[in-house]
Amino acid sequence: MRVKLKAGPEPRKFIERIEELSGENVYACYQCGRCSAGCPMAAEMDYLPNQIIRLVQMGLEDEVLRSKTLFMCASCFTCQSRCPKGIDLARVMEAVRYVLDPKGRDAFGPNEISPELAQELPQQVLVAICRKFSK
Ligand code: SF4
Ligand code: SF4
Repeated sequence: MRVKLKAGPEPRKFIERIEELSGENVYACYQCGRCSAGCPMAAEMDYLPNQIIRLVQMGLEDEVLRSKTLFMCASCFTCQSRCPKGIDLARVMEAVRYVLDPKGRDAFGPNEISPELAQELPQQVLVAICRKFSK
């Protein structure tokens, strides 16, 4: 089934806001797909990382904000290390999460990590949590 995607009311504003918050030039992406090919969370995502950045380029705000990919990203930076343009997709995801909810919803914040838990959790989990609450 073909789904017709519609741009948000002010696509240009949305794109500029994402660029401002993330510090990334989303138009530098030329859809090579290397980010998605190496993403360890790709199987859990509804849109692959390269698709998220494409949706942002097109100003498809609603579609991006609805995507569960935003919360599946583990901020592992694999995509950035593979990207020929050096785009930090984790920052783009963070920017979109901020647009989605500028006040934040701390279901689980960094302050709730006990020293015991911090010893048990892989460092990457801690980085991912902190990145998601860095607003
Ligand atoms: S690796 Fe970089 S240029 Fe290639 S699709 Fe991903 S973000 Fe775009
Ligand atoms: S930072 Fe996020 S999008 Fe990039 S490879 Fe890691 S999990 Fe995937």
